[in-house]
Amino acid sequence: MSFTIHGIGVSGGIAIGHAHLVSHTKLEVSHYDVPAAQLAEETARFDRAVNTVRSELEELRGSVPAGAPAEFGAFIDLHLMILGDTTLSVVPRAIIESEHCNAEWALKIQTDELLQQFDAIEDSYLRERRTDVIQVAQRVMKALSGQPGYVPPPAGDSDRDLVLVAHDLSPADVVLFKQHQFASFVTDLGGATSHTAIVARSLNIPCIVALHHARLLVRENEIIIVDGSQGVIIIDPDPRVLAEYQLRQREFGLERQKLKRLRDTPARTLDGADIELHANIELPGDVALAVESGATGIGLFRTEFLFLNRPDLPGEDEQFEAYRKVMEGMGGKPVTIRTYDLGADKQIDDTARLAPNPALGLRAIRLCLTEPKRFITQLRAMLRASNYGKMKILIPMLMNASEVDQALQLLDQAKLSLDAEGVAYDRNIPVGGMVEIPAAALALGLLTKRLDFLSVGTNDLIQYVLAIDRTDDTVAHLYDPLHPAVLMLLSHIFTTANKARIPVSVCGEMAGDVALTRLLLGLGLRQFSMHSAHLPDIKQRVLKTTLADTLPITKKMLRATDSAKLHGMLDKLNA
Ligand code: PEP
Ligand code: MG
Repeated sequence: MSFTIHGIGVSGGIAIGHAHLVSHTKLEVSHYDVPAAQLAEETARFDRAVNTVRSELEELRGSVPAGAPAEFGAFIDLHLMILGDTTLSVVPRAIIESEHCNAEWALKIQTDELLQQFDAIEDSYLRERRTDVIQVAQRVMKALSGQPGYVPPPAGDSDRDLVLVAHDLSPADVVLFKQHQFASFVTDLGGATSHTAIVARSLNIPCIVALHHARLLVRENEIIIVDGSQGVIIIDPDPRVLAEYQLRQREFGLERQKLKRLRDTPARTLDGADIELHANIELPGDVALAVESGATGIGLFRTEFLFLNRPDLPGEDEQFEAYRKVMEGMGGKPVTIRTYDLGADKQIDDTARLAPNPALGLRAIRLCLTEPKRFITQLRAMLRASNYGKMKILIPMLMNASEVDQALQLLDQAKLSLDAEGVAYDRNIPVGGMVEIPAAALALGLLTKRLDFLSVGTNDLIQYVLAIDRTDDTVAHLYDPLHPAVLMLLSHIFTTANKARIPVSVCGEMAGDVALTRLLLGLGLRQFSMHSAHLPDIKQRVLKTTLADTLPITKKMLRATDSAKLHGMLDKLNA
């Protein structure tokens, strides 16, 4: 019988294949008393299980395929770190000894205790690391039971497309996907910012998370359709639905091929305006996709990802190598590197746990200015890499003139220190600021007078204008890029920057939404930066747009206050 389950689509496209179920990760945990004379053997059994898991993870680490996204290795390192932490590898031994219980029960007690601590954390990024703790604990539990960790089907079994159906998947398991070429994977657990979702996007296969009961309801080998764009799976579809999706899949594939042919076509409107389409990246490994998509530059390199999922901070040389790799990969095309935007949902230490409202707290440039040494380390690494192409430095979350001045002073200090060492760098490196706090957007002069370019972070700008926490799904329906206040603010930013002859781009998600391309063009935007996967679609829309036609409708949209009318006008603009 055919049925449908809805979840959160985290990577678009359509996959049709046979379900391959990954065994349920939750194991029954038995509890029994261990006589005093056997406690030493019980703790030794626990140590052996931890060592087995360590070897498994190290083996996985060694088998990361060349060319796999860099975060794969980082995920395994994170799991090794969790495993090595005394809270998981030592405390259960003490529980075995004090409670005279079996190793499984001791591990369960300690894991439950840890998870309770995670539940009390308000920060969504940190809360999602709870999943990593569960995955590591379950690996140890499996090792105690004599079962190995997740083992994929034999390599080379690619005569049919497999859709992996799991209750949950650890990022370490996902590493193996590259070798096994699954068509798609779907999971019961996970959020849009979970590691699994991040990896899915970089694998570029359809993926859905948060399906809740898929692992229970789907049977091995059943035909399953995954519509990653709509976040829906259809199990055992009837022939009519299957034929419909096969057609859509072919159309999607053809469309992708067709769009690929646009790679080297300049993004020019029908009335001859040249539009810059750049790519957003998180790690150096993303450059290949950016080049393939036809990006004429990197508009946003979110460097803070180099700082996550690790116990230490990346040093100057490590950062320099990462930045150099991006510069060289782009072969002289412009690369905009953002100084780290840590804090809020991307934490490297415990400070956010104490912050009552991390999104309004010590984040991005605010954090950088409280840690000048760490900031200068990054600036030096960037300057050193500026020799390898055309770099621009971008500073996030600026709000007042003093922050800009302090950041520029620290940049000067970094330059002086390199001068003293005789190290070369681009002396005319442009410095820009992100416009993502309403105060900076309204009083834009404080940025245009001091900086060489601007980039609008619409993700945060909308969050702060509408007072909607972008990580909170209970208010996600109120997050509205078409709100009149957002449109007015964007129009003000573009008009003011254009008058001041300061280049301005948008690097928030709005830039990659094809429904908003003509609106942004009509408001005066000429530079867009987005995830590589969206770039061909946006280019196609630009190629089919006459700027002069967009102006009268966008002008009217700026005067409208009624949401239904605004949507009607947007439809007209896109017709
Ligand atoms: C934004 O806020 O729009 C932006 C591009 O930055 P981030 O999403 O990294 O906060
Ligand atoms: Mg932002």
